[in-house]
Amino acid sequence: RLITLEGGEGSGKSTQAEILAMRLARAGRRVVATREPGGSPGAEAIREAILSGKVSKYGPFAEALLFAVARKDHIDCQIGAAVTDGKWVVCDRFVDSTRAYQGAMEGLPRSILESLERLTVGDFMPDLTLILDIDPEAGMARANARREEGEEVDRFEQEELLLHDRVRQGFLDIAEEEPERCVVIDANQPEEIVAEDIWEAVTERLGA
Ligand code: C5P
Repeated sequence: RLITLEGGEGSGKSTQAEILAMRLARAGRRVVATREPGGSPGAEAIREAILSGKVSKYGPFAEALLFAVARKDHIDCQIGAAVTDGKWVVCDRFVDSTRAYQGAMEGLPRSILESLERLTVGDFMPDLTLILDIDPEAGMARANARREEGEEVDRFEQEELLLHDRVRQGFLDIAEEEPERCVVIDANQPEEIVAEDIWEAVTERLGA
């Protein structure tokens, strides 16, 4: 099974991905927890090149291509085999992040995104996608608090609120278009409640 978590900055995806992976393992599932961009050595190198800011901005098309290469490597070298082997893969971000960031936020045409998806992901789509929806202002506040604690900031996290609104709407539109795959979770709630809502969605949809 492939479960992906998606959402904007400060939505708590990474924490919730960890909690979910732990609960699945406790329920006796064999679990692989991973993330994008990254997850395999090749993909992590691409992540570093894009996010470190060492390379000046690539532009949405080049970025979508790079994220696509990273995703292909991640699938081929890691999660593809894990899913085939009967493991439950919990992935922090996947294909919907490209649709939301390079598509909804940066305006890359849908036809390009669809071609790239066909080439890199094909039928390997998530069984369940949890969209952690948070008010962008609250999300930014959380991300800023993390920053004050010393976490490194990647250049995407410095974008303005208006852009975060576009990302949020992008994710909500995906959920509306693909209700059989996606569940929207209200991530404005306290962490434990969000975790409960996620567990409920996973057990309901996938019978974990
Ligand atoms: O989830 P995490 O914060 O580690 O993601 C790293 C950054 O990559 C995010 O700030 C997100 O904005 C960006 N990203 C992107 N396009 C993708 C995937 C991630 O712009 N397709």
